[in-house]
Amino acid sequence: MVLERGEVANSWRRERWESLRLLTPNWQSRLPGLRYEGPDPDGYMSAGEVTAFIERFANVSRAPVRTGVNVTSVRPGGDGYHVTTSRGKIGCRTVVIASGACNRSAVPRFSGAVPASVEQLTPFDYRGPAQLPDGGVLVVGASATGVQLAAELRGSGRPVTLSVGEHVRLPRTYRGRDVLWWMDASGLWDQRYDEVEDLTRARRLPSPQLVGTPGRATLDLNALTSMGVALVGRWAAVRDGRALFSGGLRNMFSLADLKMERLLDTFDEWAKTDGYEAEVGPPERFAPTRVPESTRLQLDLRSGEIRAVVWATGFRPDYGWLDVPVVDAKGQLRHDGGVVDCPGLYALGLPVLRRRRSTFICGIEDDAREVIEHLARFLAVRR
Ligand SMILES: Cc1cc2nc3c(=O)[nH]c(=O)nc-3n(C[C@H](O)[C@H](O)[C@H](O)COP(=O)(O)OP(=O)(O)OC[C@H]3O[C@@H](n4cnc5c(N)ncnc54)[C@H](O)[C@@H]3O)c2cc1C
Repeated sequence: MVLERGEVANSWRRERWESLRLLTPNWQSRLPGLRYEGPDPDGYMSAGEVTAFIERFANVSRAPVRTGVNVTSVRPGGDGYHVTTSRGKIGCRTVVIASGACNRSAVPRFSGAVPASVEQLTPFDYRGPAQLPDGGVLVVGASATGVQLAAELRGSGRPVTLSVGEHVRLPRTYRGRDVLWWMDASGLWDQRYDEVEDLTRARRLPSPQLVGTPGRATLDLNALTSMGVALVGRWAAVRDGRALFSGGLRNMFSLADLKMERLLDTFDEWAKTDGYEAEVGPPERFAPTRVPESTRLQLDLRSGEIRAVVWATGFRPDYGWLDVPVVDAKGQLRHDGGVVDCPGLYALGLPVLRRRRSTFICGIEDDAREVIEHLARFLAVRR
């Protein structure tokens, strides 16, 4: 059985802002036996469309879902696990943890020192610009969520400052194709977790600076600067009501530019060796990220210049209900490709779980098949 505390596709119903669209194109949204068949394969689904897509999958696959059942504890016992829920207790031999990688916002501790006059929001609270007080907004984090929210807030007429830490720069399209087509076709997304050089790092990599818009626009830092978004460095601390930012934007930008160039080189190499040259446009290179002439190293949060802070500093899973010692000091599940370090316990839906594409919806099909094969063998041996 599948236990869900809310409704099917709960995270897409309840935990996304109004304008959110997938950054993966429609043709890439696929679940086992179900793929996008609408009129716009190169478009990007809204959260409502993702909800409908997952709901359809639940119906077509006749998944035995029990909604409105919150799991409050899972612990070893009996012939497997004792599961306590808001609707009673269940005993089972195996458990697959599919509770998501993004249950909470990862907000730095120093947020507690932000003056009370400044409103603070996370992507879980944020629905749209109208919700924020008039005036300046400081968006923290320049990955997919941060760049999208900074652009939307700037578009609403507010002065926006974006605090930039480590980020992954990508053009929306490259040589005439969606950049995620290149990830897919070149096999980069199929790289397996046991072939990735630094798996811990790969699993913690920020999401790429991408947005899904009808015009397939690139939303990198240059695009944001052109819209009038002011860039500052990584937010390091709050002292006496002042936000203190790191310097070194130039180095950070160069590193992100360099990594993007390397990735584009890999795509070019692949297109050449696999005979795709004729199908795609000529190689492209993009202008380096522009370094602002001067950047502020601090901002007085009591001056009224900043009325709201939006924390786009990433997400964390929540395993507060898991009474099995398989979560590390950083709150991440210890597992080997979805096989958790406790017999009969499995995981799905985590970043780079078994391959790079595991981070995305299109990654679940192969992952689920392999993890369930292991689970079935486990049950067969026990029998
Ligand atoms: C802001 C954002 C944007 C994204 N954009 C894209 C994108 O463009 N393309 C893409 O392919 N992927 C995207 N992803 C990733 C995508 O969301 C995941 O790949 C996918 O949602 C994983 O599905 P899941 O079912 O494993 O996890 P989730 O969608 O997180 O679902 C987990 C479910 O478990 C339930 N749950 C949690 N704890 C309990 C409990 N204790 N008891 C009962 N139920 C519980 C939750 O209610 C939820 O419904 C994005 C993620 C985020 C956060």
